[in-house]
Amino acid sequence: MHEIGIVRQLIRTVTAFAEENDVQDIREVVVDCGELSLVIPEYVEELYPVIAKDSILKDAKLTIHTVPGLAECEECDEVFNVVENKGRCPNCGSFEKTVMSGKDFRVREIIVPHDA
Ligand SMILES: [Zn+2]
Repeated sequence: MHEIGIVRQLIRTVTAFAEENDVQDIREVVVDCGELSLVIPEYVEELYPVIAKDSILKDAKLTIHTVPGLAECEECDEVFNVVENKGRCPNCGSFEKTVMSGKDFRVREIIVPHDA
């Protein structure tokens, strides 16, 4: 389960942000989880409170935003959802494609309380 490493990295990223910006408290972290990133959001949600409890994120809510895995067909330029079409172009049937989105797991937004 490589999500442990993913969550630790997430907490390191946010902690570094907080130190750089002199933030003491974080209300919410929004992450983008690509459908093709091989990260399972349910595992991240499960691990997050356990790993975050000793960090600046202990009281912060985690919101996972799923990013669809879209690719452009090399043969006919059709843009399609990779997961829904099992990697195959629905227009011409080709497997040759360029993935355009949904490969990354990354921090999208860090929300700090207004009165902090
Ligand atoms: Zn095609």
